[in-house]
Amino acid sequence: MFGSRRKRIRRQAPAAEFPAAWRARLAVRWPTWSTLTDDEQARLEDLILAFIVNTRWESAKGFVMTDEVQLVIAAQACLLVLELDIDMYRRVDSIIVHPRTVVLHGERYVGSGMVADGPHAIAGQAHHHAGPILISWSTAAFEARHTRSASNVVYHELAHKIDMLDGVVDGTPPIADPAQRARWIEVCTAEYERLCHGRASVLRDYAATDAGEFFAVATEQFFTQPVALRDGNTDLYEVLMAFYRQDPAARALPAR
Ligand SMILES: [Zn+2]
Repeated sequence: MFGSRRKRIRRQAPAAEFPAAWRARLAVRWPTWSTLTDDEQARLEDLILAFIVNTRWESAKGFVMTDEVQLVIAAQACLLVLELDIDMYRRVDSIIVHPRTVVLHGERYVGSGMVADGPHAIAGQAHHHAGPILISWSTAAFEARHTRSASNVVYHELAHKIDMLDGVVDGTPPIADPAQRARWIEVCTAEYERLCHGRASVLRDYAATDAGEFFAVATEQFFTQPVALRDGNTDLYEVLMAFYRQDPAARALPAR
């Protein structure tokens, strides 16, 4: 994808001004906001405005969409691409917000060649290509405010969208530099295999489902509990830091 000249799909001009009241709302709804520098906040504001206007927002199950819902989801989504390019979200077309977790039925792959049956609740889902992202607002709102669990459905689903950019969900996002890509694969494979063999990991067990889930869960940990990740697996922290071009452990992230 790096060599191609894809037509940008994000053409809509965002609103010129980031509403002052939104900053106060973000500080309450998403405490990570307050850990960002003035420069980071200013650039994130521009991304948020562009993301909101270029995303089709849909409600499901009677959910009432508000500016605040879009703001809180967009802010977290845009943090991932703060030092990258908003064009990485060119296939983020629509976000469908449900009031609560969604119960799915039927068989699902749970890793290690195993398939489970029966209903199961999900907090989010990212579909391939320009397919929609599904988000449970009850989960997203809680996780925006509380980082202790190291879970964040918005980071998770948007990481899947980044992973999908090269056409395959293989846990390796687009990395142009061959050496950086090789290091990424080496470090992530080692930690993934640790998880698959049931050994202690800084990542939660769900990361062992497959390589795609590994990247999504690692991204959640990187942005919610970066100090724990850095201390638990410095190599993994460093390849994520090199990819996202951010050092979240250096921010005084509140653990709530
Ligand atoms: Zn996932």
